[in-house]
Amino acid sequence: MSKVLLISTGGTITMVRDAKTQALVPADIETFKAYMPELFAGEMQVDIEAFTPLIDSSDINPDCWVKMARMVYDHYEEYDGFVILHGTDTMSYSASALSFMLENLSKPVVFTGSQLPVGVLRSDAKENLLTAIEISGAKDEEGNAIVPEVTIYFEDRLFRANRTTKRNAEHFSAFNSYNYPALAKAGVHITYQPHLVHYSDPEKPLILHTAFDCNVAVLKLFPGIQQPVVRALLRARGLKGVVLETFGAGNAPTDKWLYKELKTAVDNGIIIVNKTQCNTGSVEMGLYAVSLNLMKAGVLSGYDITTEALLTKMMLLLGETPEKAKELLGKELCGEMTVD
Ligand code: ASP
Repeated sequence: MSKVLLISTGGTITMVRDAKTQALVPADIETFKAYMPELFAGEMQVDIEAFTPLIDSSDINPDCWVKMARMVYDHYEEYDGFVILHGTDTMSYSASALSFMLENLSKPVVFTGSQLPVGVLRSDAKENLLTAIEISGAKDEEGNAIVPEVTIYFEDRLFRANRTTKRNAEHFSAFNSYNYPALAKAGVHITYQPHLVHYSDPEKPLILHTAFDCNVAVLKLFPGIQQPVVRALLRARGLKGVVLETFGAGNAPTDKWLYKELKTAVDNGIIIVNKTQCNTGSVEMGLYAVSLNLMKAGVLSGYDITTEALLTKMMLLLGETPEKAKELLGKELCGEMTVD
């Protein structure tokens, strides 16, 4: 019998309507459990740890990531797999963060949630949660975990966590992985794609990284962007890293001032990584002349990484040292990007 630890942080899946405001708020874990008797009637042993209070994922921050990752780390030997219940709004950030925090992970950590609260008749909560539990405890014939990495299960797809983005605020299919195929599809049967899974060496011990440096920013370019805005952001006190969201294959306006602002920032030790505004495809600096200035200024390529993965990876590496961040931001660590 597989043993799974369910870690509940909150999110819509745990919510009820507030009598006064009519807005959705997380209930407590006992209320949630009462809606989910199936959790304790299946073929797996499911134990529960919960945040107190449960929270909306808009309130998630790096301290919460440390709390979640520590729960996995502290109980790592006791369980075959882990499921993390989380609001959908920032799930891709949290799941990406944990994929970098848990180095050498060789057990499944599956994030899930729902678009409708568990108590609503048409809710997607039960299917999402019960399938996530099944996936987190699933083993092959040799008894090895089938998907021993951090993933998101939603609607009928299992995605690598650090490849996901929340794409829809209404549909049950809330997430997508634009640049990497699904690791499993769930219908009558769950069909796994083991050749797509990232495996760590099971002989290596699990290492927990917890130091985040939040002195980072996202700078989204747009036609007509003005120098004072860019300057104010790049000269913000304490800034250490920037996700530069560019056009198409990693392109930017050729205004001299933009080049100078970026170059000055890089010369001052700020790490700038180029991430395309397109969901699908990769940064290819040098393909168009309009990206040459970025290369000259010392901007690094983010290839086909998501903003969620790039930001969390940057915060975690900067938490170690800026040198480490500079060295590893352009390298693939756990399947988060395709470096050509
Ligand atoms: N606001 C909710 C949250 O992220 C949305 C959800 O869970 O779907 O916690």
